[in-house]
Amino acid sequence: MADATGFRALYLHVPFCVRKCAYCDFASSATGRRDPLMAVYARSLAAMVRRMAGEGLLDGLSTAYVGGGTPSLLGGEGLSFLIGAVPSVGELTFEANPDSFSPDLAAAARDAGATRVSLGVQSLADDELRALGRVHDGEAARRALGEAAASGLRLSADLMAAVPGQTPASLAASVEGAVAAGASHVSVYPLIIEEGTVFGRAVEEGSMEEPSDDEEAAAMEAAERVLGRLGFARYEVASYARPGERCRHNLSYWNGTPYLGLGTAAASMADCGLYGRLRRLAPGLPAVAASTARVRLTCDSTAREVAAAEGDLSRLSFGVEELTAGEAAAEDLMLAARTSDGLGPGLLARARDAVGAAAVDRAVDTLVGEGLLAETPSGAFAPTERGWLMGNVVFGELWGLADGD
Ligand code: SF4
Repeated sequence: MADATGFRALYLHVPFCVRKCAYCDFASSATGRRDPLMAVYARSLAAMVRRMAGEGLLDGLSTAYVGGGTPSLLGGEGLSFLIGAVPSVGELTFEANPDSFSPDLAAAARDAGATRVSLGVQSLADDELRALGRVHDGEAARRALGEAAASGLRLSADLMAAVPGQTPASLAASVEGAVAAGASHVSVYPLIIEEGTVFGRAVEEGSMEEPSDDEEAAAMEAAERVLGRLGFARYEVASYARPGERCRHNLSYWNGTPYLGLGTAAASMADCGLYGRLRRLAPGLPAVAASTARVRLTCDSTAREVAAAEGDLSRLSFGVEELTAGEAAAEDLMLAARTSDGLGPGLLARARDAVGAAAVDRAVDTLVGEGLLAETPSGAFAPTERGWLMGNVVFGELWGLADGD
C-alpha cells in the first residue's frame, strides 16, 4: 500500500550504442546493433519499474524519460515493452538516433504511451557528423526528423555547437533544417572535450584544438539568434522551445522535483521520506544522518549487472550522497539559475530560512551587480545574456551558500 505520493519524474537509462562518438563520455558502451544483452536489460528495467509502481513509489508520477545511450537500439518491441511498464503520464519522452529510428518504432513507442521523441541529430552537415564520429549522415538525420514529425509525437532535436569545421552558416542551416522538419523543441550543446574520449586524446596529442571559450560563446549566441528568429525562447542554458513546448521532465531536474533514475549510471534525487521507502526495496542502502534533508543516488551497477538483477533493486549497487538543508537550498538556487524562470520569490524565501537571509541577499546582490542576474517583472532573478554565458560563475556563487559563505 502506498503511504504517500511517490516520485514525480522517472528516468530510465539505456546504456547501449552502436559505437562510441568521438566526443562522448556518457554512460554507454559500444554494443553494435544486435547484442542480446539489450533485451534482457530492458526486461529487468521494466520489472523494476513495475515493482516501484506496485510499492506506490510512482504514485503521482508526472513525467518519464527514456534516455541513453541509444534507446531506439532496443527496437520497437523492446522499447515499447519498457515504455509500457511506466504508469500513464502526461509526458513520456524517448531518445532516438536517426540510424535506429523508423516510423514503425515511433508507432510502437506511441502506442505504448510515449508522447515525445528527442532525436540525436547533432548536425545536418555530413563533414561535421563524420568529425563527431556519428553513425548517421545528414540525409539520415533529415529523414528521421521528417518521420518523427509525421508520427504524431512531439519532436525535439539535439544539436551541437562549436563542432570542428562548423561555421555560423552551417550551424544556422542545421537549426533551420531541424525546425523546418517539425521540431518544436531544440537543445544546443556546446562541444566539450572530455578526458578519455577520442577528442580528448586528440587534444592531448596536439592533433586537435579545443574550442576556445570565445568560439563556444559565439556559437551558442548564433544558435540563440537563429532560434529566436524562428519563434523559440531559451528556457534553460541549452534548451529552446516554442510556447507550450518546454520539456517538463527536464524542468523537474532544475526545480527541485524528486526524481527516480533506474538503470546503469542513472541518478535519483529523493527527500528522506522517499529515500526511506526506497530502502524497503533495497535494504542494502545506507541509513542517512539525522541532519540529511536530501539524498542523491547514482546506480553504480554495470549493464550486465542490471540485466542479471531481474528487476530486483536490492541486487544493484548505488553511490549515495547526503545533503543538509543548507546544501539542498543552495543546490535549488544553483539549478534554478540554469533556467529563464530563475530564482523565484518562494525559492528565495526557502533559501533565506535555510542558510540565512543576509547570505542569500548578498549572493544575489553580487550576481546582479556583476550583470549576471536581473530581476524579472514577477520578482524573480533570472540569467542575463552574460549570465547564460558565465553560468559557472553564477553556480559557484550560489553553491557557496551551502557552506554558509
Ligand atoms: S549516440 Fe549519444 S550516447 Fe551514444 S556514443 Fe554517441 S553521443 Fe554517446
